[in-house]
Amino acid sequence: MSTQNTLFDPTQTEYLRAVHSGDSPKSLFINGQWEAAEAGNTREIICPADGTSVGFVSEASEDDTIRAIKAARASFEAGEWVNTPAIERGKLLVRVADFIREHKDLFAKAESADTGKRFEESQADMDDIAGAFDYFGTLASHQAGRVVDPADPNLRSRIDAEPIGVCGLITPWNYPLLQVSWKVAPALAAGNSFVLKQAELTPHTAMLLMSALQEAGLPDGVANLITGAGAECGNPLSQHPEVDMVSFTGGLATGKIIARNAAETIKRTALELGGKNPNVIFSDADFDIAVDNALNGAFFHSGQVCSAGSRIIVEESLHDKFVDALVERTKRIKLGGPTDPQAETGPLISAEHRDKVAAYVDTAREQGAQILTGGRAATSEDSTGETDLGKGIYYLPTIIDGATRDMNCVHDEAFGPVVTIETFTTEDEAIEIANDTEYGLAGAVWTSDAGRAERMARAMRHGTIWINDFHPYLPQAEWGGYKQSGNGRELGPTGLAEYQEHKHVYQNLQPAAWDQFGLN
Ligand code: NAD
Repeated sequence: MSTQNTLFDPTQTEYLRAVHSGDSPKSLFINGQWEAAEAGNTREIICPADGTSVGFVSEASEDDTIRAIKAARASFEAGEWVNTPAIERGKLLVRVADFIREHKDLFAKAESADTGKRFEESQADMDDIAGAFDYFGTLASHQAGRVVDPADPNLRSRIDAEPIGVCGLITPWNYPLLQVSWKVAPALAAGNSFVLKQAELTPHTAMLLMSALQEAGLPDGVANLITGAGAECGNPLSQHPEVDMVSFTGGLATGKIIARNAAETIKRTALELGGKNPNVIFSDADFDIAVDNALNGAFFHSGQVCSAGSRIIVEESLHDKFVDALVERTKRIKLGGPTDPQAETGPLISAEHRDKVAAYVDTAREQGAQILTGGRAATSEDSTGETDLGKGIYYLPTIIDGATRDMNCVHDEAFGPVVTIETFTTEDEAIEIANDTEYGLAGAVWTSDAGRAERMARAMRHGTIWINDFHPYLPQAEWGGYKQSGNGRELGPTGLAEYQEHKHVYQNLQPAAWDQFGLN
């Protein structure tokens, strides 16, 4: 039995009292009630920073998920939320934003306990999450539809934006509540009911969000949460006929399964998948700033970021100087747990995930790439601050040089603290390399030539392009992938439209007979 995590104890949390009121946890939120999994199964959540226990949650089965789907369907058919004026729906979302800000440290502690990430980063995530609820709260009443000019004064034509119905929302563990907020806020703004399946390793902030929605006055059954693993409990969300849409953020392999499942009932899908994101550096870029941002792009949150700059593509003439500086600074990166004041980045999510990262680096080694630094799990001897790295799931920040396009490391997503280095000599070659990936999520270009920056931004086939920056996003700006990084868009006006049906209503004010049939 692991010792209790000291940052967050769900059994002592007012907003989760109902979850922990009996002998076994009741972490499924269905029709406004906290329930246990019918089969009584549970899962222990372990903090990857130090191996402590965060607590136990219910492990849902397919049947539990179907129960949640039925509750969502019944609430949608009852119509209370759909028929709430959009402006009132928006106000509720703003109340949720306020709740998250008011309880920011509680949410951030839960997030850091589940993921092991630095507490400061979790706090910043909570600001962003409140911002997403604010944004969609404001947008809710501004995207109700539009009037179309039918070019005839006797005709009226308009487009009504209506909710899709019941949405299945499936999210990953790397930014647990942030990814949830990008789906829950627009789904509710549009008037839908939903069933959320949060990643099985990081359930606690989604549970707190259910309490926030209830406190804000959301009708029972509109928001439902299931906690449990992958296909075992997730399948009905892409298969059940009473689900109208499935919005998924996660890996490419899972995305393909969900797309195939959803095809059977022609559900709308919004897929936000992985990335292998090029960070292109020209020799005329500001050197120190480009090196600093290359580190941030690759190693922020230990590279467990879908838009991580995991593929540095540097101009040949700059290669040696750039790589020397990058290696020197990478060796000084300090790893540690959420409240370790020395820590600059944290652990990987699980031992299983660290094994995948290690296997990715081993393959690069076998294929002839050079590991300039890192390339192994961190041990107690690598500890630099308060954290004993041997007790958590840490991997040393790793730089792979001499990577060529026939190697797996250049094409596969590591989703860990690993970056590859490639070189180019011309702008055309830089574009060709940057686009040589099945993914297309994000990319960056570093140059002091504004014309070149614009040409690169236009030519790079990725959903977000940063010019002389890396990682920022705005709730007002669409986020999503080209190619196999997905087919959806989150945030921005399109992020709301994903959760709407658009109905054409055409009215004739001067009805007349056609006189075409049966006249003779
Ligand atoms: P994953 O695909 O393993 O899991 C994601 C979610 O899907 C989890 O909740 C999981 O339980 C669930 N799941 C797994 N199989 C399922 C099934 N058959 N039916 C229904 N649900 C199922 O991904 P992960 O390891 O949690 O997350 C990492 C991946 O997510 C990376 O590839 C990363 O790039 C991607 N990601 C993308 C974005 C984006 O905005 N495009 C954002 C964050 C993460």
